[in-house]
Amino acid sequence: MKNAYQETMFLLNKYNITANKSLGQNFLINDSVINDTINSADISREDLIIEIGPGLGTLTNELLEKAGKVIVIELDNRMINILNERFCLYKNFEIIHEDVLKVDLKKLIKENKENNNLKNAKVVANLPYYITTPIIMKLLEEKLDIETITVMVQKEVAKRLTAKPSEKLTGAITYSVQYYCEAIEKVEVPKESFIPAPEVESEVIQLILRKESPVKVNDEDKLFKLIKSSFMQRRKTFLNGVSNSGLVSKDKLKNTLKELQIDENIRGENLTLEQFAKISDMI
Ligand code: SAM
Repeated sequence: MKNAYQETMFLLNKYNITANKSLGQNFLINDSVINDTINSADISREDLIIEIGPGLGTLTNELLEKAGKVIVIELDNRMINILNERFCLYKNFEIIHEDVLKVDLKKLIKENKENNNLKNAKVVANLPYYITTPIIMKLLEEKLDIETITVMVQKEVAKRLTAKPSEKLTGAITYSVQYYCEAIEKVEVPKESFIPAPEVESEVIQLILRKESPVKVNDEDKLFKLIKSSFMQRRKTFLNGVSNSGLVSKDKLKNTLKELQIDENIRGENLTLEQFAKISDMI
């Protein structure tokens, strides 16, 4: 049996492919990382797997052996040809040739779960790094009927996604993740695990979607606008940053902080999700 390195070199040569940097193409060649990623995703025949950016099909190959159905979403038509040739004999395989950000995932998951009598939907991917955040935000904000998201991302992004408020890498997305899911670090991935090797280290993380958010708010949209506006101007205090954004007047926000007994010089990254939720409901 070929290992992932040999398989990747064979496919790149056979189809005369060079990686397209602008599509974030870094192909996985590390067998133990591949195994650990697949094992972390905990896949069974009752699962519908959505794989984003299958590339040459390295993870796809493993997913097809374990899942009830695998739907891959890929933008590069060169990869579509390869995937078709490699996996056309699998009855549980489907390709969508499209930009993942344009796919109606809600409909896709609903129809496929129903039609194939599958219990859970899970996302597994070695994500294209140039659009990691938009993809993760789409998966979370569209409130999809999925159980887990197991993805390879840049290490720094992994740290931001799994950070707790007040930690160095806390960002607006840290709170979104906390609101929608529980985030766990799974596998450290050295640069040499890919061809071509990216400039940064990577990590596999798993997001386990919550059935209910940990805080209740009257207006979710307002909560996330508030969080985003407080991180737009990171060097400013929460009070100055948010009132500059025009979301709420400085006086109103000052009084709200006073009422909640929060120091008016606090920075956004030091607020908890609960405090953001309370402020959001009061402004
Ligand atoms: N899964 C493969 C692997 O692990 O070797 C390839 C991963 S590579 C990091 C990212 C893949 O995402 C590439 O195949 C790239 O063509 C694809 N991709 C890039 N932008 C995309 C988009 N907007 N929608 C779907 N796929 C995309």
